[in-house]
Amino acid sequence: MKAVIENIQHFSLHDGPGTRTTVFFKGCPLRCAWCSNPTTQNFGVELLQKADKCLRCGACAAVCPHQAVSMVPGSLPRIDRSRCVNCGLCTASCPGKALVMAGQEYTLESVVTNIAADMLFYRNSGGGVTLSGGEVLAQSDFAVALCEECHALGIQTAAETSGYAPYENLRRLSSVTDILFMDIKHADNAEHKRLTGMDNAHILDNFARLLRDRVEPVHVRLPLIPGCNDSDDHLAAYAALLSGMEGNFDLEVLPYHRLGKNKYDMLGREYALGDTPPLEEERVARAVSLLREGLGRIPVLCTA
Ligand code: SF4
Ligand code: SF4
Repeated sequence: MKAVIENIQHFSLHDGPGTRTTVFFKGCPLRCAWCSNPTTQNFGVELLQKADKCLRCGACAAVCPHQAVSMVPGSLPRIDRSRCVNCGLCTASCPGKALVMAGQEYTLESVVTNIAADMLFYRNSGGGVTLSGGEVLAQSDFAVALCEECHALGIQTAAETSGYAPYENLRRLSSVTDILFMDIKHADNAEHKRLTGMDNAHILDNFARLLRDRVEPVHVRLPLIPGCNDSDDHLAAYAALLSGMEGNFDLEVLPYHRLGKNKYDMLGREYALGDTPPLEEERVARAVSLLREGLGRIPVLCTA
């Protein structure tokens, strides 16, 4: 069994307790305007260009069999993405390591071996593996098998999902994860579609079904994005929506950051949020307070 994985990151301290290994799956059906990991959005491997490492030697233009690279005097090589087939030939010829591929096909065995190398750290810290992305459920058979293999080795499992997938795939993933994070990004269907490319009805339906099937808590996450979902009106509607849900869940607020912006540059893509600054502390505190007020018994966390 194989999957396209963007990256396997060791010694992570996010998305679950203790020291973790995070496996970033490639491919996602959503296109969130604020996505901090655009290099995981497309399903296949793809070329990244790191401007600060380029020596402007022209080797990439010379080697590309598809004439996708052109040299412009005094400038960086220009990559025509409509011609590039992501073959990776230019990366092998690039002396500055300015061209690299995002994503690689892995076998299940190779990912398990990679994760298991840090067993001692998981045991000493209460950590484990976190499946992230991209959308883990876009390669759900692999994700489920990976969690099963990890459990067989005594490794705790966590997964992050947008919930946008056939319910049966979500249920299977839930059955093999100790910790499950699920995003609910906007309460309004039309706004959800405008901001992420998909409507939220299927996600909310999956969430309601998951709450009936899962005994352990579902950790709902709200990425709090300025100008997108941080208005008082939206937070009130969001709290009303969740407070009507029956089941075992809590809510974590994830304030907007700009850490993924340089990845858009590497992909030759525009960042939809431009120069939007992070939210001020007071604004985040007010949002958390409004959500706590509206959600009553449901815990609302924010570690920022
Ligand atoms: S990845 Fe392949 S097609 Fe794309 S620019 Fe490099 S050599 Fe050309
Ligand atoms: S081969 Fe690498 S270092 Fe040379 S021009 Fe191309 S991207 Fe820059």
